[in-house]
Amino acid sequence: MSQERRIKFAWMDVLLLVFLASLAVLNPVSEIHAQLALLSIGIFQVFERSFIGFVGQRGETYSIIIKIALASLLISYTGSVQQPSINSSFYLIYYIPVVTAAMYSGPWGTLAWTALSSAAYCSFLIPALQVYRLTASGATELAIRNLFFFLAAMLVNRFVMESRQQAERYRQVAEQLADTNRQLKQAQAEARRSERLAALGQLSAGLAHEIRNPLGVIKGSAETLGKKLPTEDPVARELAGYISSEVNRLNSLVSRFLSFAKPLELKKQPEDISLIVEHAIKAAQEQWPDSSVEVDRDYAKDIPPVDVDAELTEQVFKNLVFNAFEAMEPDGGTLNVQITKEYSDGRRGVEVAFSDSGPGVPPELREQIFNPFFTTKSTGVGLGLSIVSKIVDDHGGWIRVEPSAGKGACFRVFLPAE
Ligand code: ADP
Repeated sequence: MSQERRIKFAWMDVLLLVFLASLAVLNPVSEIHAQLALLSIGIFQVFERSFIGFVGQRGETYSIIIKIALASLLISYTGSVQQPSINSSFYLIYYIPVVTAAMYSGPWGTLAWTALSSAAYCSFLIPALQVYRLTASGATELAIRNLFFFLAAMLVNRFVMESRQQAERYRQVAEQLADTNRQLKQAQAEARRSERLAALGQLSAGLAHEIRNPLGVIKGSAETLGKKLPTEDPVARELAGYISSEVNRLNSLVSRFLSFAKPLELKKQPEDISLIVEHAIKAAQEQWPDSSVEVDRDYAKDIPPVDVDAELTEQVFKNLVFNAFEAMEPDGGTLNVQITKEYSDGRRGVEVAFSDSGPGVPPELREQIFNPFFTTKSTGVGLGLSIVSKIVDDHGGWIRVEPSAGKGACFRVFLPAE
């Protein structure tokens, strides 16, 4: 593609040089300076893009000025005593700066540059008037020539503006497409996650039921055994105690397992999301009273009430805030909590974003952290985010994790308002 472009440009350049060379050959005055001016125009035209790239921001303005100067130089060399420069048939050379200005500027800029080119051309009238008189037909001819400059400039400018607008429309459509594509991929990943969690939920519910019954028997037997053991055998009693306490631990794990698996019964009513978020923050601050984590709030005004189950939603926010505190402890950091009105997948709702300054979540773990029992903490269970994800799913919302602005993780929760 780029090679194709280069070849096309080389052809255009060659053609341009051929045109200018033909003009040089046809030049009736055969003045060497005029040939040189034509050559300079050709060379400048060929290297114009590189010149603009080199000069930068003001390159286009300089390019138009240089072209007006070169065109004027050519006109000045194509005049003679019998034929003043203003009469030169090379006056058409001014179309080069005029068209260039129309390509680079807006309508007003084009008018201004064309007026300047026209003034540069008309300035040749001054030396001519010292020798000749301006006749009415001469003045008309001059006016027509100038008017044609403006006509050409405005036509080219209109075409350029239209194609610029068209290019802008294409760019916007391409951006929208890329955005929709990204959203679609994200929605697909979220749907896969929901399906995976639902399947895991079913599996765990079955498994937990099967584990619970024998656990009850083990616990009962251990307790009976403990009571029946002679008091003078402390080791045996201690072992029976271990069995009992470990069974309790397993039981609580199974209960959490079941709470993850069982379908949620939502008691929805319109709630002020910022109040629920505040409860969660307060709970974390009570859990870590000496924490040096700073909470930075950014709540939009006019947040509509959202139909949610307050208890379960608080569980969601608590999990996220606790995870953020855990990620930043013991060094501390900043937890930024942002609540905004959002429009997602055609639904109005509220988005709550928790951005911490902890170590963040590596990209390869961003989906895994939502799986039950996935944890990187030595004392973690790994059920928090899977329960969060399930509660948010059941509310018809979504949860996403992304890197936060500086470092750290940003968890975004969207809850639809209707
Ligand atoms: P747990 O907290 O028991 O590990 P979770 O399901 O809540 O279980 O979290 C799973 C994993 O997700 C954590 O072990 C941790 O690796 C990662 N994680 C969650 N929140 C954050 C966070 N704010 N910053 C970094 N990692 C996080």
